[in-house]
Amino acid sequence: MTTYQDTEEGTNIPENPRQRCQALCSCLDAKFPQLVSYEGQAAYTLEQNYWSQQQANTKPVCRFTPTSAEDVSVAIKEIRDYECPFAVKSGGHASFQGASNVAGGITIDLHRLNEINVSADRNVTHTGTGNRWEDVYSKLDPMDLAVIGGRNGDIGVGGLPLGGGISFFSGFHGWACDNILNYQVVLADGQIVNANETSHADLYFALRGGGNNFGVVTRMDLQTFDQGLMWGGSTVYSLDKNSSLYDAFYWFNVNAKEDPNAALIVSAACIKALGSCIFSNNYNYIQPEVNPPVFHNFTRVQNVTSTQRISKLLDFTNELKATQPNGYRQAFFSITLLNDAQIMKDILNDVWYPAVQPLLKVEGFLGTLVFQVITDPIIEKFGKAGGNALGITADQGPLTVLNMDFQWNSTADDDQVLGIEKTIVEKATALAKSRGLFHRYIYQNYAYVTQDVFEGYGPESKAKLLKVQRDYDLEHVFVDLQPGYFKLRR
Ligand SMILES: Cc1cc2nc3c(=O)[nH]c(=O)nc-3n(C[C@H](O)[C@H](O)[C@H](O)COP(=O)(O)OP(=O)(O)OC[C@H]3O[C@@H](n4cnc5c(N)ncnc54)[C@H](O)[C@@H]3O)c2cc1C
Repeated sequence: MTTYQDTEEGTNIPENPRQRCQALCSCLDAKFPQLVSYEGQAAYTLEQNYWSQQQANTKPVCRFTPTSAEDVSVAIKEIRDYECPFAVKSGGHASFQGASNVAGGITIDLHRLNEINVSADRNVTHTGTGNRWEDVYSKLDPMDLAVIGGRNGDIGVGGLPLGGGISFFSGFHGWACDNILNYQVVLADGQIVNANETSHADLYFALRGGGNNFGVVTRMDLQTFDQGLMWGGSTVYSLDKNSSLYDAFYWFNVNAKEDPNAALIVSAACIKALGSCIFSNNYNYIQPEVNPPVFHNFTRVQNVTSTQRISKLLDFTNELKATQPNGYRQAFFSITLLNDAQIMKDILNDVWYPAVQPLLKVEGFLGTLVFQVITDPIIEKFGKAGGNALGITADQGPLTVLNMDFQWNSTADDDQVLGIEKTIVEKATALAKSRGLFHRYIYQNYAYVTQDVFEGYGPESKAKLLKVQRDYDLEHVFVDLQPGYFKLRR
């Protein structure tokens, strides 16, 4: 039998969590006709559009699609009153279950927060956090402008900068989080504030890497710059070129100061559909210059095929989107290494490659081992506007982010795939530690749910984040009522 408690307003709220959420959904439905949807309805089905199967198969009681920060504020207050678990979705690219969708709770889907306005002086783009980066680039490309955002245009404007945000322009400008001039945020008590260098500067720091622990960001104001044609694309090699490619990666990271126009993704992939393993690297240069010297160590290696060309940002982001479709089971993992070519070779040849061979029989399998640079010029930009929360300082660079993503079709293969992936991470970590090449940092946007991202930011940054949490969300609404994603806990 259901029992009830009374709120201050005298509304009856059921004690059972699912029933509490049903009551909350009815309450919001009454206040916001057309903005709440339930399973079986067309809007709900459309909005259950996530990159990974794990997230798409998670079923909230209802989905709420606010049209303004004020709507979000009302929702947060009601969510607290009803004590209903919630999740917040922007582009839905976080891969593990519950990251931006919540079983039996309410998902706030931001897709109607879709304004995009460019300031008259062309220096700032105001964007609702329900946009995807391709929406923003589509607006800016014809104006020969750009911002620091995702390299796959389908990623949400909301999620990427809250974890960091590696972009084609990072050598020159830093990560996405270093180029947000202002966040409009709905706090735990429903207040709507602006966080920037001069107003709520502590919250501004926390939002640059602190993830979803501090509020719902409803608008971001992005530093905007002139950007015309650029050079970029994907280049495929056979896997036996790994030694030359990793040597080239090492020197790219060492020499990054000489040319910050360049960006790099070095990605080994084993693919069931091909029955084999390859490299598919991305070289991008933000000037319209074909094969600039900074890439010669890579481009002198014999490739199989290449799409490198002069084009515009939107074209390059569409190219990546086409290779990373929705609908599969997915698991990301990430660790960070000091810059060293030999460890990349050893992780590929001795750890990753032998371990993934059995998975080439798994339906839909695609496993990538990706290395990306955190160069000294990038780390310098981490200090912009009071600094970000990632906890990486100039004396620690240059660094290498290792990111593994495994993709497969069926839940029946979860245990085998995840078991192998975890073993690879453990072995790679042990190897790096044994050589003094391990760095504590874990890149939030590529991490697995069990990884302790905030511990990896180091004690100083974590302590600052915890203080901001105490000051802005003493009752831990964004941790306890929003269970998904990386939680900041003492
Ligand atoms: C195919 C693919 C390509 C990628 N490419 C890149 C890349 O080029 N560079 C890079 O750095 N990363 C990249 N990533 C990682 C990506 O940045 C993260 O997965 C990011 O969290 C996705 O953001 P989203 O808004 O799409 O996801 P979501 O799943 O919607 O959100 C991710 C998390 O952020 C929270 N969140 C989102 N919006 C808000 C908001 N407005 N307020 C409060 N919390 C919010 C969500 O609740 C969730 O916990 C890529 C990921 C994929 C799957």
